[in-house]
Amino acid sequence: MIVLGVESSCDETGLALYDTERGLLAHALHSQIAMHQEYGGVVPELASRDHIRRAIPLLKETLKQAEVSSADIDAIAFTQGPGLAGALLVGASVACGLGLAWDKPVLGVHHLEGHLLSPLLASEPPEFPFIALLVSGGHTQLMRVDGVGRYELLGETLDDAAGEAFDKSAKLLGLGYPGGPAISRLAEFGDPGVYKLPRPMLHSKNFDFSFSGLKTAVLTVVKQQTTNICEQDKANIARAFVDAIVEVLVAKCMNALKHSGLKRLVIAGGVGANKQLREALNAAAAKRRYRVFYPELEFCTDNGAMIAFAGAMRLQQNHEAAQKNYAFGVRPRWPLDELRPD
Ligand code: ATP
Ligand code: MG
Ligand code: FE
Repeated sequence: MIVLGVESSCDETGLALYDTERGLLAHALHSQIAMHQEYGGVVPELASRDHIRRAIPLLKETLKQAEVSSADIDAIAFTQGPGLAGALLVGASVACGLGLAWDKPVLGVHHLEGHLLSPLLASEPPEFPFIALLVSGGHTQLMRVDGVGRYELLGETLDDAAGEAFDKSAKLLGLGYPGGPAISRLAEFGDPGVYKLPRPMLHSKNFDFSFSGLKTAVLTVVKQQTTNICEQDKANIARAFVDAIVEVLVAKCMNALKHSGLKRLVIAGGVGANKQLREALNAAAAKRRYRVFYPELEFCTDNGAMIAFAGAMRLQQNHEAAQKNYAFGVRPRWPLDELRPD
């Protein structure tokens, strides 16, 4: 079975073809980062318009790369939510338009389910059940995952998401958008312990997170500088920020593993690309004989491959999941724990 995936929930347009027999056949991505950079964040209207421009050229590129024609495709999966309404509508209309033109069934996929299942695209995929840490630009959640659609939310952020904390703190340090990769690179030159930032909710007895106070603490440190902040100081602050957020994320993951009795941890979402987080998780897990699984680096942030894959998993579970019903709708807000196995 070959599934075409269409992702357009935020600032990446992603198209991909996944074959349940042969694996990922091809994928193409356009990131709008450069376009939004001058505004310091994603401008929704510009994002929607750019998805419109990019979708069909990316589709053609994907079909060509995979040497697949529309006749070979069994179903079309698109990101139905959560995300920016206008951006989601572009992907939904592209998917449903193609479905109508090609007489193929379509299905709406949950964007976070895409992220969550993306580590299963890797060469050594984890088996169910596992604990998953979803750390993206808009979400930070710890989940127990027993199978496709069997997600139990253990805890989540009460305010900012981890990726948001990275981006906002980077902005305070004058680094560009998105700040995650930039603050992480800068932190490598920083000395540990020069600045001490809070570890919010590190010792709380639950699996929730809170990162807005950490961002405020970065702001306070930046404001305390009486003279122009020098490069080394910036690096020291970046280091303090990364150390704080990584310590909290790692500790909560270890607690969740211990509490559940499970031995496999899966990381998904953009912050999962973070080098310091990966190093710290690997070290903590090795000590306790746990295994950690990550998506391929290119599939940590938004992409079409995870949507094609999640769509294929859904269809394997329920052949009726895709329908020739092209009256599409999107769900900008859509809690992941509302999903069911079929
Ligand atoms: P959501 O999936 O919750 O709707 P999103 O799609 O915007 O949000 P992703 O594409 O998964 O989120 O990830 C983007 C986020 O990941 C940004 O906040 C970005 O700064 C962060 N990020 C990407 N690479 C890194 C990195 N190396 N270190 C830290 N953060 C990173
Ligand atoms: Mg993005
Ligand atoms: Fe995402």
